[in-house]
Amino acid sequence: MNGTAKKLVATHRATEEELFSLLTDPSEELRRYLQEEALALKRKVYGDDVYIRGLVEFTNYCKNDCYYCGIRCSNRQAQRYRLTEREILDCCREGYDLGLRTFVLQGGEDPGFSPEGIACLVSAIKEQCPGCAVTLSVGEYSREVYALWRQAGVDRYLLRHETAAPDHYRILHPQRQSLDRRLQCLQDLKDLGYQTGCGFMVGSPGQKTEHLVKDLMFLQRFEPHMVGIGPFIPQRDTPFAAYPAGTAEQTLYLLSIVRLLLPQVLLPATTALGTLHPRGRELGMLSGANVCMPNLSPKSARKKYNLYDNKLSDGAEAVESLKALQQRLESVGCRMSLCRGDHVHTNTSYNHCIKNSYQKGNGYHV
Ligand code: SF4
Repeated sequence: MNGTAKKLVATHRATEEELFSLLTDPSEELRRYLQEEALALKRKVYGDDVYIRGLVEFTNYCKNDCYYCGIRCSNRQAQRYRLTEREILDCCREGYDLGLRTFVLQGGEDPGFSPEGIACLVSAIKEQCPGCAVTLSVGEYSREVYALWRQAGVDRYLLRHETAAPDHYRILHPQRQSLDRRLQCLQDLKDLGYQTGCGFMVGSPGQKTEHLVKDLMFLQRFEPHMVGIGPFIPQRDTPFAAYPAGTAEQTLYLLSIVRLLLPQVLLPATTALGTLHPRGRELGMLSGANVCMPNLSPKSARKKYNLYDNKLSDGAEAVESLKALQQRLESVGCRMSLCRGDHVHTNTSYNHCIKNSYQKGNGYHV
């Protein structure tokens, strides 16, 4: 095996040149080596557990216009919806009753929800679902707003950076959106004590190997707690409708490299990966991923949260769905865990559930 790959496995670091060489025409042997090492490392840090997050896509209104996104503000074809606070609480209640202890509230940057309204909503979820973790994924806001939400009890924040390369960022976004601002938001979130997640698309229009190298260098510098990586998939009503999708193979390879660079990272096998390949999420788990986010949104809303074409929308709305997910995970040697699943370096009394508390009868951890 080549020395660069061995060094990555041994030290969890890589230079720009080394990453460039790993990403340039990797052999089948190299891919397999890094995949096996990433899987072994994940097992060493997190065991066989896969953390399940209940995803609530609560609004598809967005004031931004990212060229790759099906719910961008310029898309007149999108059927817009906003869940009410009652509906969002009901989604979380259903998930909580099934045993889920993390809820991810995701939406566009929707001026229809005020920062104070979101803070109240989070407080209500925390009161209704004691001991749960709440993740927000609602885009770019000021440091003051992030501080308000942190005070309200938000534990984690997902904000994909999408690309760390300024020239690539310009291809994907209109002039009024700014990479510097996005990176500043990520820094603010980390400073405020959030478990912070970033991430990027694989195979997005204009993406070159050097852009992916920049993304991986950024991850090494920033050391996020979570990284969301999914293949680009075109959406028919966007300017990128005719562009080819990224590949599952390259996404899986990058998942392995990210696991090796950030051994403790919480790494989802994304919906986009599951959309692109029927066993995408299982293969993701075998490549170093350890998080899965089934959908708790009302079925009527799921099709409308149409970020890209043919988006998978399988959910966790019933015990049967969770059982099916459990079987899929067990087919690749994983164990479904419903506990909060905090990052291992997070100082929380809930972290004990990673090791303890096995709920008899249904076979999964809570
Ligand atoms: S990617 Fe996010 S910020 Fe951009 S248009 Fe879509 S929902 Fe809005």
